[in-house]
Amino acid sequence: MNDDMKARMDEVMSKWNSLEGYTDSTSSSNGGSSANTNAVPKYNTRANGKSSRPSGPFNGTEDRNEAMSHAREVLERMLGRKLAPDAEFGHSDNFSDLASDLDNNLRDHNYNFDDDDDDDGGQTGSADHEERDVVRTEAVENSDKPKKDEISHKLYQEELKNVNELEIHNLPGRGRGFIAKKLIKPGSIILKVKPTISTLQNQHLKRICHGCFLTAEERSIYVSQNERERLEKKMRGELKLKLNRCASCKVLHYCSKECQISDWSLHKHECVALQRFRKMYYNTYPNHPSKNDSDDLTWTDPSNETVRALARIIWKRKDERDKNGGKDGLWWKQIASLETHINRSPEKEMIKLAQQAQHLQHYLSASIPLKSKSIEEENRLDPVNLKDFGFANVNEVMRFCSSFHVNSFTLSSPSLSPIGVSNSPLMALSNHSCDPNAVVVFPNGGKFMELIAIKDIQPNEEILTSYIDLSCPYSIRQRDILERYRFSCNCTLCEKGKSDENWVDPRWCVKHIGCKKGEQGKGKMPDKGLIGKISIKCDTCDENFEIDSHRVLSEVQRGVDLLDQDEIGQLKYHEAKKEIKTLIPTLQKHIPNCSYPLLSLLRLSSLVHTPPQTPSDLDISIRSIKAAYEGSLITYPKNHPISTICLAEYSKLSSLTDSEVLPKLHIKSIREKSISSMLEAIELLNKSIKSTNISFGIENKGGIVNKEMKGILFGCQSELDGIRSKFGP
Ligand SMILES: [Zn+2]
Ligand SMILES: [Zn+2]
Ligand SMILES: [Zn+2]
Ligand SMILES: [Zn+2]
Repeated sequence: MNDDMKARMDEVMSKWNSLEGYTDSTSSSNGGSSANTNAVPKYNTRANGKSSRPSGPFNGTEDRNEAMSHAREVLERMLGRKLAPDAEFGHSDNFSDLASDLDNNLRDHNYNFDDDDDDDGGQTGSADHEERDVVRTEAVENSDKPKKDEISHKLYQEELKNVNELEIHNLPGRGRGFIAKKLIKPGSIILKVKPTISTLQNQHLKRICHGCFLTAEERSIYVSQNERERLEKKMRGELKLKLNRCASCKVLHYCSKECQISDWSLHKHECVALQRFRKMYYNTYPNHPSKNDSDDLTWTDPSNETVRALARIIWKRKDERDKNGGKDGLWWKQIASLETHINRSPEKEMIKLAQQAQHLQHYLSASIPLKSKSIEEENRLDPVNLKDFGFANVNEVMRFCSSFHVNSFTLSSPSLSPIGVSNSPLMALSNHSCDPNAVVVFPNGGKFMELIAIKDIQPNEEILTSYIDLSCPYSIRQRDILERYRFSCNCTLCEKGKSDENWVDPRWCVKHIGCKKGEQGKGKMPDKGLIGKISIKCDTCDENFEIDSHRVLSEVQRGVDLLDQDEIGQLKYHEAKKEIKTLIPTLQKHIPNCSYPLLSLLRLSSLVHTPPQTPSDLDISIRSIKAAYEGSLITYPKNHPISTICLAEYSKLSSLTDSEVLPKLHIKSIREKSISSMLEAIELLNKSIKSTNISFGIENKGGIVNKEMKGILFGCQSELDGIRSKFGP
């Protein structure tokens, strides 16, 4: 980089730092996270794939096989028979045997969860299971009209006290769901609830407050009355941008005393457990280089956010039972009444659940204070007796884990980056659609989970949210829903492909290059395994065009592989940068920006190039996010927060001005170029401010992202004034 360029980048960086607020890719306090810990923000409202990964019991990965076989043993003992040697996903005889065995088992144990699996918790579509079909047929015959579910209204009376927009209904064949009581306009907050519990993913523990789930920067935006003043304070270094650490465990961080106190009733148990694990880890590795580095949290790896969330719910339950003479509170009944899929889970899943239950027993055990300080006692971790925590047996714990798995939500930052897991039994009653009319977001941090309308919802219409990534084509959506939620989706979008043969899904298509009717011409993606040139019909000009199917499909596969790696957290961002550089232009030759996997890759590309380190990084990240924004408008429903965040990111990057403005130009052209790019940024910022107002709730005034955009707008306007006074009007 030459000196001019370097100076230019320094300027970009200092500008970026003054703007930085909501992206997850930059660090805030305490050194923060590295970008490669984040998968491309997918925004599924239900818990993302990550939290569903099994968390191994205390053994590290090297002991995983042993742990799996132990979990298997537990399960086999429970069932009183051997499991198939290699239990796979699917609907084998083994699976139905297992389901009926478990059913009997549960009946024998006088289970205190709701026994009727099929009737509870919300989802649309039908599970791939005979029982459910029977339930559905009967339900349809018995009732023409959906009915208000009085029992649920009693169960949630506290939460629904001031809610006039919706009612909980028992919907034929779909369990419980939300029905609109009046016309709801886009941008309305339909429901706002305090999550029962939320926990952060380990990699965010140091940079996000465990009380409000905001970074120090986001918090400062949230509390500021005047964004311009805040930015000025920040430039002068007068803003407190550090979180405080819990002095006992040195793991959780808080932005304020208030947040620490609000979290203490549950953290007090967790705090003891965490201290114990740190000790156990360093007893095992006494010469570990990070032994005296309290900032190092690698030892927290074995217990992910899901285990910590489950433990928090169990402690909450126990505290309440201890207070009320062994009686459960109403909120526990809410949790216990949610749907589980344990009867429909394949053996592989059952083993994972058994494993998780074991892990929990150890985790809870670590929260019991030690009697002595001997190393032997420190290192001995006997599993707790779950009866002491209100569970009758292991089945019950497994069922609880399974229910959490199906009903929990991804905790996301105000700008939709996944940061943890969150739980609200009431919110979990919303059913799924791949073309939703509402979204679940956290516009002002994790203290409140909000259901916001993105379309007009008519009286008596069902309020639907999406559980999965909407940019995926039909087959991937169906696979994801079946694997995790065990039903097949028959929403309007999923049915569209079946009912209209000529419909080309923008999520899974190829471009008609040279289409007479313009840029939009597209045709269906060819089937897997096709080789050679094939002819495809364009949906815009109706003519046939040829593509090299093998070539297109193999490029698409490269993209899918990259996203899969990102999903499981195995993508190294510097490698991804190289790969993406060649892959995106190649894919753009064949498929439009709205199609899978290009849309997700474009967002990933912008993420890995942000904050920009070189002028070319800045160019790539702006071009990627612009293309992603345009694609998102086609793929996502109108007003969807993903499009809004793409636009916010695009306008924020544009405000860093055009990197092509290098000193070689005439003063006159610098002026013109700078002014025009500033004006463009201002236009984008205004558009993005408007759009946050709807996607994150009108009453929220668009939440933290909106406030941040307004701050950047101030900055751009004063920069524009500066350019004009420097170079003349
Ligand atoms: Zn806080
Ligand atoms: Zn602590
Ligand atoms: Zn669907
Ligand atoms: Zn065409």
